[in-house]
Amino acid sequence: MACSQTITCPACGSSEVRKAGYNAHDVPRYRCANELCSKKSFMLTYRYKAYELGIKETIVDMALNSSGVRDTARVLGVSKGTVISMIYPRNSRQS
Ligand SMILES: [Zn+2]
Repeated sequence: MACSQTITCPACGSSEVRKAGYNAHDVPRYRCANELCSKKSFMLTYRYKAYELGIKETIVDMALNSSGVRDTARVLGVSKGTVISMIYPRNSRQS
């Protein structure tokens, strides 16, 4: 019995996807063939949740809805440093 899985780009939804090798933990990487797509390569599952598509937007949305840094980090399963770096990007900080 043959099994197949249709892989689509998480950013643009295109099914024009090519294999792009494996990462250091032997998880396959894919490359989107759509030239207008903002996401050039992706994996189906990420080891670190902060790399998943939509996490950054969710962090900003939760911050705008009065969720604290620790609250956001606990709910999304990312570190507090990730949340802080999304809310206060490095180039906007004053030293
Ligand atoms: Zn794409």
